[in-house]
Amino acid sequence: MRVVTIGAGLGGLLTSAFLARNGYDVVILEKSPYVGGRFTNLPYKGFQLSTGALHMIPHGEDGPLAHLLNLLGANVQIVNSNPKAKFLIEGKIYHYREGWKRLSLKEKAKTFKLLAEIKADKLPKGEEARMNAKEWISEKIGENEFAFLFLESFVGWAISLTLEEIPAIELAKEIKAVLKWGGPGLIKGGCKAVTSELAEIVKQNGGKILTRKKVVEIEENKVLTEDGDEFSYDVLISNVGIKETVELFGEENFDRDFLRVVKSLKPAEGIKINVALKGKPRIGNTVVLTLDTKRINGFNEPSSISPELAKEGYSLIMTHQALKSKNLAKERKLGIEDLYYLFPELDKEGEILLIQTYLDGNPVNRVASGQEHLEFPIENVYIVGDANKGEGGIEVEGIALGVMETLQKLGLERFDEWYL
Ligand code: AMP
Repeated sequence: MRVVTIGAGLGGLLTSAFLARNGYDVVILEKSPYVGGRFTNLPYKGFQLSTGALHMIPHGEDGPLAHLLNLLGANVQIVNSNPKAKFLIEGKIYHYREGWKRLSLKEKAKTFKLLAEIKADKLPKGEEARMNAKEWISEKIGENEFAFLFLESFVGWAISLTLEEIPAIELAKEIKAVLKWGGPGLIKGGCKAVTSELAEIVKQNGGKILTRKKVVEIEENKVLTEDGDEFSYDVLISNVGIKETVELFGEENFDRDFLRVVKSLKPAEGIKINVALKGKPRIGNTVVLTLDTKRINGFNEPSSISPELAKEGYSLIMTHQALKSKNLAKERKLGIEDLYYLFPELDKEGEILLIQTYLDGNPVNRVASGQEHLEFPIENVYIVGDANKGEGGIEVEGIALGVMETLQKLGLERFDEWYL
């Protein structure tokens, strides 16, 4: 069976690694000179920044991505964050458990009940599932300012959206995921440690990865590249998005209803600020959700477990904020103002290394979490990556859940206990 994979991002590499190990004849076509897409390292001024993700895996050693890496025998070390999270308010950082003190007895009881229900898989259904997550939380817990700020930061950090932009069911499943698999973990060596290892596994199992090969058209069972090469396939894996895959086939091959849904899909957009700070690690292996900032939703410190990600004598901090408007200058300015609130001595102690903006063709997610799950209507064609995330799967965990579904459809493995 010949497999052609378009794009060597995380989803394309993961799927290809499993297919190659199962005896499929795999070729990955990657337009850029490097593999890993938005999940690899970006060397910059002596630091290892990242092309996209924050050198962090949302559910650490115990989540779906770690499970797939284990099944592949990938040599990757993930170190769970401890504590799972902290929060910052009024200039002070607290352990996440301190948050309970900010709820009244009644609100606490309601929150416990809600968490117990989610844990027992009593998730919102029908109309309740579709209402926006903010309204749902006010119905379930009440109007607690702290709870809103905490959840708003969590959702902004985790999926680059606001509570009002996601349906209740998405938030409920993300909470279920946290209860099931725990908090995040940092990757030793950063994102590249994962994607380089996957590329090795593909190659060790006879797969080929061709870089600087841009796919420009797909015909029936054949992929054409910019430089005039042709690759025939029995199975096509596309890691380049749904809209992009539709364009490669040509819109005339799809019915109007499908095209209408495809066109309505929205990306998640955001801004990441990379900061260098002199001296010892500041927060260690955790994520600090920032509650009373104007834009930044949270920050982490990847160099706390991998000092080689920072220049000697420095620590690497990464902040993330969901994009709230298309006025990029304003959004960046507000992010920088937040940064000085978080690190008032920034000018003395370090510098802003690079501000990365993720939107349009290079978003945080090609299909923002919580939208309709689409079946690609052409036989033997599977979409993987951030355009096909499993429900409730945060970022790369969603990619891993989507890859599990694809592998299961291909009859390779079963992952039923993983779906949320
Ligand atoms: P990601 O951005 O992490 O989801 O990964 C997607 C990968 O697909 C990136 O490495 C892109 O460079 C690659 N890519 C996007 N469009 C094409 C294309 N038309 N042909 C080949 N590779 C592509």
